[in-house]
Order: sequence, then C-alpha cells, then structure tokens
Amino acid sequence: MNLINKIKNFETLDLMQEANKITLAEHGNKITLERAIFLSWWCDKGDCLFCYMSSQKPKIKEPQKARRNVNSILAEAELCRRTGMKIEFLSGGYGSYSTEEIRNISREIYRITGEPVWLNIGITKDLEEYGEEIAGITGAVEVANPELHDKICPSKSLEDITEMLEFAGDLGFQKAITVILGLGETPDDLKYLFDMIENVGIDRVTFYSLNPHKETVYENEPQPASLYYAGVVAATRIKFPKLKIITGTWIDNLANMGPLLLSGANGLTKFPLFKMFGTRYGKRVEKEVYWAGRELIGTFTDIDALTKSKSKNPELEPFIQRYVNKCIK
Ligand code: SF4
Repeated sequence: MNLINKIKNFETLDLMQEANKITLAEHGNKITLERAIFLSWWCDKGDCLFCYMSSQKPKIKEPQKARRNVNSILAEAELCRRTGMKIEFLSGGYGSYSTEEIRNISREIYRITGEPVWLNIGITKDLEEYGEEIAGITGAVEVANPELHDKICPSKSLEDITEMLEFAGDLGFQKAITVILGLGETPDDLKYLFDMIENVGIDRVTFYSLNPHKETVYENEPQPASLYYAGVVAATRIKFPKLKIITGTWIDNLANMGPLLLSGANGLTKFPLFKMFGTRYGKRVEKEVYWAGRELIGTFTDIDALTKSKSKNPELEPFIQRYVNKCIK
C-alpha cells in the first residue's frame, strides 16, 4: 500500500515504526534544537492568509521601525551558540532589508557561531551576492498543492519559489522548504510535496503546524491532529531517507514532540526560546527527546550555559544581558 493510503487508512503506527528505523540508520539519534531568527516584523506582501505579518501590515505605518536592531539579532545568535541551539534560518518578510544588509548580518552570525547561515528571506534573484556565509536557501512553500497555494499565498508563486531554489542549487547552496500543516490540505496533497522534494532536490524540510493567529481567517481553526502530523512526517521520512526533517511545535503542543521524533524529525523548532528556557517547558522538551530514545544537542535548561562565556564583541553584551535576564526571569 502506498504511503498516502497508509495515512488515510490510519496505519500511522506502522509508518512511524518504519520511519524510526530508517531515521536511526541514516541519521543516528542526535536531535537539534533549531531557532529561526527574525529580522523584522514587516512584510511588503502581507497577504498570506495564515500569517501573523499579514495581520500586522495594516497597523504598521513606518515599516523601517519594524526592523530589529542588528545588535539584538546578533545577540540572539550568540545565545544560540552558547546553548548549542542551531539557527534554522534568518527570516525576514519581503522588503525589510537589502541584500547587502542581509549578507552583512549573515557574515557577522557566521563569525559568531562558526556555522554558515540558512536564509528564508522570500523569493529573490540576488543569490549570487551571497558566499561562504550562507549554507542554504529556503523557499517558504507553505502548501504544495498549487490550487490551494494560489488561494492562501496569492503573492508568492510556487513557480518562482521553485525557480529560486533551482538557481540556489546551481550556485552550490543547499535547498530547503517550509510547509505548514493544517491550512486545508489533505493527505493526497502529499504527492505535490513529494514531487517537489524529488524534482528540486530538496535537502531539508521544515514542517510547521498551523498557529491560528487572531485576525486571520484561521483564527478559529484547529491545529492539525497529532497523529496526522506524525503520519505526514513518517511518510516523508520513508519516502526520503536522507532528507533532513525539522518539525515545529508550539508551546501548547509539546506532547507532539515525542511522536514527531519517532516519525523521523531530526530537529525541533518554533519555541519561544526566552519564555521557555530553564522553565518546566524547557525541561519538558528535554524529556520528550529523552523518552523518544534520542540525544539532544545543546540545552534548554542549563542557565549557566547562558553566562559561562563572553561575546567577542563587547557592544553586544547589553543586548545579550537583556535576553539572559528574560530567560532567568
Ligand atoms: S510572504 Fe511570508 S511574511 Fe509575508 S505575508 Fe506571506 S508568509 Fe507572511
């Protein structure tokens, strides 16, 4: 029976069992904590139906002010280094930063963490401007069914995302996509996703579950069921054994993590880091990883890790301290 039919026939446990074996054989048992670092709260497009930024666009009169202070972005990167968290990507809405600014921030982050940065900055043709500071390019696909995609994200076409990723591959960058479950897709729509992963040669997929933001059409919609989410991830793992899979879990759904790890996730993301670090929620993340039989890279609880080293850039210290204080509180 094919993978999609297995999801439809509720054979999720079978899928998870197979996916778990494949994951351990291909990737081992290490799990990363991933953090997207946001560059700004503004997006020129602002019309994707689920997106928080679309609800903010009408309220932001001066987009420049929605940009984050660069030092606070770098301070966040420094805290990721200290805690062993990976930077999933730098993320920015359309029209917030110039290519040169993004490149400079990426270079600084590369200096801080020693690891090249992934970008998730919308559809761009300026990829040739980037160099060794960039690991890969992310296309925010959200939903791979073309018809649904056009309705939900009217201003960023799947063709343009695909074209950008193919160009990124030609330039030697790795390629990633993000997908949100719960936007109205069905298990059958996985065929579009699988085709895209295969045809474009995607190296990494991040799955998110819908976060129903206020003032969006999804405000009263449920998040996807835990076993549906697990089934989709497991089917993707079985179909693509070498793919890196990151799964997003909101703080109100931490119990999803264990099943997602058994389904093939290599990394966990989408946590409010400063709210959760060192709290019972941070501890819960570590327990979920432990009881999935996995080993966590980094820490979500060790407060000492936040303070044990200094940044090479003294200008960042006040910004770092502000975040450390938030974690300690
Ligand atoms: S393009 Fe991205 S940031 Fe802008 S509205 Fe759509 S999902 Fe949100």
